[in-house]
Amino acid sequence: MGVLRLSGCIFCAIAAGEIKSQLLYEDDQVLAFRDINPAAPVHFLVIPRRHIASVLDLDPGDADLVAQIHVVIGKLAADLGLADMGFRVVVNTGEVAGQTVGHLHYHVLGGRELGWPPG
Ligand code: 5GP
Ligand code: ZN
Repeated sequence: MGVLRLSGCIFCAIAAGEIKSQLLYEDDQVLAFRDINPAAPVHFLVIPRRHIASVLDLDPGDADLVAQIHVVIGKLAADLGLADMGFRVVVNTGEVAGQTVGHLHYHVLGGRELGWPPG
């Protein structure tokens, strides 16, 4: 399967190994790494290797990929000690939600109290 690469995309560059990250997990479809500017004691990102701009660009053919992202989220959250206390998964989409990187990414945040509703 080819890996679509968007020139200038920072997360495509991380997936290609051109920009270093604190990698937590990788397989042929999915990558997980620590957020460079953590908003909680544990804060990592899970992304598809292939460039997908946001959830708005997913289609039914991506169902296995999305399932794998969720499996990786659960496994890493447990490995990093978040299972008992709980954690939050966030997918900012578009300008109002504060999406700053146009490559689909799932934030996983934990290790502190998380207020609700988010700002
Ligand atoms: P967004 O605001 O799009 O929902 O989240 C983008 C996230 O990517 C931010 O939390 C930001 O700190 C993180 N980020 C941006 N550039 C890099 C980078 O080069 N490396 C890593 N590890 N995280 C990054
Ligand atoms: Zn990308």
